[in-house]
Amino acid sequence: MSLILAAEAIVPGTLYIVAAPSGAGKSSLVNALIKRLSFVYLSISHTTRAMRPGEEDGQHYHFINSEEFVQRVGEGEFLEHAQVFDNYYGTSQKYVQRQLDAGHDVILEIDWQGAQQVRKLMPDCKSIYILPPSKEALQERLEKRQQDSAEVVARRMRDAVSEMSHYAEFDYLIINDDFYKALDEMCTIFTANRTAIAQQQVRYEALIEQLLN
Ligand code: 5GP
Repeated sequence: MSLILAAEAIVPGTLYIVAAPSGAGKSSLVNALIKRLSFVYLSISHTTRAMRPGEEDGQHYHFINSEEFVQRVGEGEFLEHAQVFDNYYGTSQKYVQRQLDAGHDVILEIDWQGAQQVRKLMPDCKSIYILPPSKEALQERLEKRQQDSAEVVARRMRDAVSEMSHYAEFDYLIINDDFYKALDEMCTIFTANRTAIAQQQVRYEALIEQLLN
């Protein structure tokens, strides 16, 4: 039971970029993190790529066609957008801002190109890169998915190397060997930032006032 009696003030949330090569286990980690930390929200991207088996519109992505994508780019709807493999992906500016204003931390699961755009626009964002424990593990994970053809898997392995070459542009690096260790490391980053003195002083101003007077 919470014993904090003074009201908490809303502190604008922090924007996080989480990137990884396809098959590094990024989505599983992010989904588990969101279940653990109630203050973290995931931005659902828009994409022109075909839905994979098991995916749902609005849950995994907002699936739209290329015409609509181009129109939304023209209307300035995206905070960032990029072509990844043969498809377009974009992040809704409005959704992100609404969540940050409500005091929620927001995760963008985006590629290195999107990460570069977001860093320029929002320099206070934090970025995390996830690497697999080996090339073999990456290949195995891509094959296990059975969602893409062998040809697509081979191409994604090649693309993974070029995606991973950007790891040093990020603030934090996590190796996803043991899932729960990687999850703990990710949660620590979010919790440490959330408990930084500058944020807590504003969030708990009323409590601190009561305690010190
Ligand atoms: P997938 O199609 O396998 O879900 O994602 C392919 C790649 O696109 C991943 O690296 C993923 O992080 C990236 N991606 C997904 N959504 C976005 C987005 O909104 N913007 C950018 N720049 N990349 C994205």
